[in-house]
Amino acid sequence: MTYDVAIVGSGFSAITLTINLLEVLPSTASIAVIGDDPGFGRGTAYRTEFYLHRLNVPAARMSVFPDRPDHFVEWLRSQGKAVFADDFASRGDYGLYLRDTLASRLRPRERRAQVEFVRARAVACGSVPGKPVRFVLDAGGELEARNVVLALGVGSAGLPISEDRIDTEAHRHIVENPWRMGWLSRVGRDDEICIFGSGLTMIDQVLSLRARGHRGKIRVLSRRGLVPHPHPVRRAAPVAVDLSGSRDISRIVRTLRRAVAEGADWRGVVDGLRPHTQALWQGLTLDQRSRFLRHGLAWWNIHRHRIAPDVYKAFDALVEDGTVSVKAGFLQSIDTDDTVAHVGYRVRGTTHVETIRTDWIVNCTGMERAGIGHSPLLKEMCDCGMIAMDALGLGISVDRQSRVLDPEGSPRENFFAAGALTAGQFWEITAVPDIRVQARHIAETIADEVRLALPAASRIA
Ligand SMILES: Cc1cc2nc3c(=O)[nH]c(=O)nc-3n(C[C@H](O)[C@H](O)[C@H](O)COP(=O)(O)OP(=O)(O)OC[C@H]3O[C@@H](n4cnc5c(N)ncnc54)[C@H](O)[C@@H]3O)c2cc1C
Repeated sequence: MTYDVAIVGSGFSAITLTINLLEVLPSTASIAVIGDDPGFGRGTAYRTEFYLHRLNVPAARMSVFPDRPDHFVEWLRSQGKAVFADDFASRGDYGLYLRDTLASRLRPRERRAQVEFVRARAVACGSVPGKPVRFVLDAGGELEARNVVLALGVGSAGLPISEDRIDTEAHRHIVENPWRMGWLSRVGRDDEICIFGSGLTMIDQVLSLRARGHRGKIRVLSRRGLVPHPHPVRRAAPVAVDLSGSRDISRIVRTLRRAVAEGADWRGVVDGLRPHTQALWQGLTLDQRSRFLRHGLAWWNIHRHRIAPDVYKAFDALVEDGTVSVKAGFLQSIDTDDTVAHVGYRVRGTTHVETIRTDWIVNCTGMERAGIGHSPLLKEMCDCGMIAMDALGLGISVDRQSRVLDPEGSPRENFFAAGALTAGQFWEITAVPDIRVQARHIAETIADEVRLALPAASRIA
């Protein structure tokens, strides 16, 4: 069978695309969702059941539908939860919301497009002009579709040190992907932990460790030692700052600083940027974007991607009592003796090298700049010229309609990508409020194509 649409992926992007496609496709259409995650829709972010793993976006901004902002809040209330629009719900509840929303769209069978969830990993892809795209599945077999959306997420970043600086024996102390939560059960109560990266993933892991009874010291190492700020308990209204005369990063920062100096709440100023962030990014030259990634990224992350107030409070209490210490420095080496690992790092702003003695090293450097190296499918597609990496290596090249570009920069018809993979084009495209808009646009474009192609499509099928 040839499907009208194949979505590859099983996280939020894939599920929000499926929900949107079910709203806009004719009932004669067919969709295949190829995903290797048992909890379709929950992905890495929303499969947790730990109550301090909270959303970092208020409930009122987490609806799957941009034009129905109350949808998630109403769902929470229908589950008997007393929530306000500005509350930070648990990520586990959000996963259940996604599951229920999808289920509600799947219920009226006869009036909707057909959906097949294929539990498999797509390992290769073939495409001939004018013919459906073909995916090879690890479970065996192949699957064909006329329209394709790549929604594979970005995986987690590699260790921030080259392999030749790691003693091979030290690997048994290293947790390369902390989202495989199994590692937590191997940690002893008083084990010492060294975490690389000081962002949202680090905070999640610290709180998970404590919840599981860990009481040892935790040392956090990142290049700048910056930790995310909290959201205020009472949300500051977004402040609109006029950036029309500010075409480069330094000017933009100066204008924003001036607004804060004149009395605006900095959180409101940062939140006020949200509707303009993608356009600002697209207005920068490649060189400006690259400079922003080198010098501004860490600052952007801690101001823009803030955490729920009580999550911050729980983390800060551990810093205050000395359980967690955060260091700014550059990783130099990872060695080991018979029992523990030794992390050598150069203290930021000095030539002085210090060593952290630790039982576990946990890579929480996050997912930014993970590129495509995490995905054998994307690497293969890149090697055979079906897709190209974006110029900054953030993901794959797409145009403003999220159409995948070939290495010559031409858009591939009927071939889209969604989510953080498209950060080279959109920059802020990792969180729900941005992905849901992208998903709607892609779904509407595909629905137009499917409607146009229907008679021909039925003949092929
Ligand atoms: C811990 C965490 C917390 C977050 N919290 C928030 C939040 O509070 N608010 C917010 O707005 N955003 C949050 N985010 C951002 C989050 O990335 C997005 O909300 C969203 O989950 C991204 O979904 P995705 O589908 O693009 O990627 P992913 O969730 O990574 O899903 C991609 C899926 O595709 C599958 N896959 C990959 N390759 C293949 C293949 N070849 N074949 C088949 N399947 C494949 C993967 O196994 C995975 O399940 C958070 C992210 C993380 C990691």
